[in-house]
Amino acid sequence: MQTSFTLAQLADPNVAEADRILRACVHCGFCTATCPTYVTLGNELDSPRGRIYLIKDMLEGGRPADEEIVTHIDRCLSCLSCMTTCPSGVHYMHLVDHARAHIEETYRRPLMDRLTRGLLAAVLPYPARFRAALRLAGLGRPFAGLFRAVLALKPLAAMLDLAPARVPPASPVSSPATHAASGARRGRVALLTGCAQSVLDPGINEATVRLLTRLGFEVVVPEGEGCCGSLVHHMGREGEALADARRNVDAWMREIARGGLDAIIVTASGCGTTIKDYGHMLRLDPAYAGKAAQVSALARDVTEFLAAIDLPAPDVAGGRTVAYHSACSMQHGQKIVRQPKDLLRKAGFRVVEPREGHLCCGSAGTYNIMQPEIAERLRDRKVRNLAATGADIVATGNIGCMTQIADRAGMPIVHTVELLDWAWGGPEPAALSGGGRG
Ligand code: SF4
Ligand code: SF4
Repeated sequence: MQTSFTLAQLADPNVAEADRILRACVHCGFCTATCPTYVTLGNELDSPRGRIYLIKDMLEGGRPADEEIVTHIDRCLSCLSCMTTCPSGVHYMHLVDHARAHIEETYRRPLMDRLTRGLLAAVLPYPARFRAALRLAGLGRPFAGLFRAVLALKPLAAMLDLAPARVPPASPVSSPATHAASGARRGRVALLTGCAQSVLDPGINEATVRLLTRLGFEVVVPEGEGCCGSLVHHMGREGEALADARRNVDAWMREIARGGLDAIIVTASGCGTTIKDYGHMLRLDPAYAGKAAQVSALARDVTEFLAAIDLPAPDVAGGRTVAYHSACSMQHGQKIVRQPKDLLRKAGFRVVEPREGHLCCGSAGTYNIMQPEIAERLRDRKVRNLAATGADIVATGNIGCMTQIADRAGMPIVHTVELLDWAWGGPEPAALSGGGRG
């Protein structure tokens, strides 16, 4: 694609990067066929190619964002299916990240939109606040129908719909600690306990610590780590996202200095995609660029890590049929496709995959709150495809997908690592023994 940025514009390294990305696009439109919003809405402006044109026009003109571009960029799930499909290697993720930051700087959103976004950014990344908000959601639930009837209040209704009926108590695994390896030590890893996941389902990190320590790894939950920043990053709140990234880089560098790290283990694939991008996000900060690149290189999804080590024979034959739902951030963001399925098979489960596995379930961070109608259509499509597999269990690697699908799937939904922990000597996942989701 030809671009016409001026030399003065190209002096901005973010614009220069956008220019490189735009020039790689050859307008072929292959990406439209696998874009969930284009497949759902059928509008070229809600396709990757359409959005790329809108972004190009906005950036070349040096214009503030307007309502049209905000509408179509807000509808993008950042699922990155377009990046998997694109034959020209267009880095849509970095382009849309830049566009979102530009929108945040130059566009004044309607009041309710600003309030909702401010609320999400002030609550979700902080476990104590999020836990308190979920408990309060019980009081607001009777008003969800009322909120749903008013366009500007639909995100509030979506928040109430998504809030679980029961909020689990805080887990000790979420606090800074070192969990010793059982038997001979094979290595030392840090675990990102995360923010929303540790509140919604602390059992995921508990299963991870049990499994990794049983396999001979010391697991450290470092002092000072917190939200990876992806939530605010996807809202274009760059300053906040970079502050989160720097805080986590500092926490993990301290651990590297203290005892070395073989990996930084991430159990939510949305967070993994962002942490693997820290090196890029902080590339213009001389004090952090090198450290952030080192951290990104150490980041591993828990299944990616487990697939790369020797595992003993499983203790319990799984036997059941598992429908593996590959989160977008797992398959498109991190290109982790084979490993979770191979591990589940190794654990003794029969693995099946739903049709249209490349399409997002509509969760996408806070998308199911901010764009509830499109998110619901995508969720229903995903649930139909999962049900058609006839599986006993759905397994996935991202808490957002689990929350999005749980009430509708008609079968228990678990994190992949919970099944792996079970197969290698841990307890049966709560969702299967009647104590949780599904
Ligand atoms: S990230 Fe997903 S929703 Fe956004 S343009 Fe690409 S395929 Fe479409
Ligand atoms: S598939 Fe790639 S090159 Fe083709 S239109 Fe989409 S982004 Fe551009």
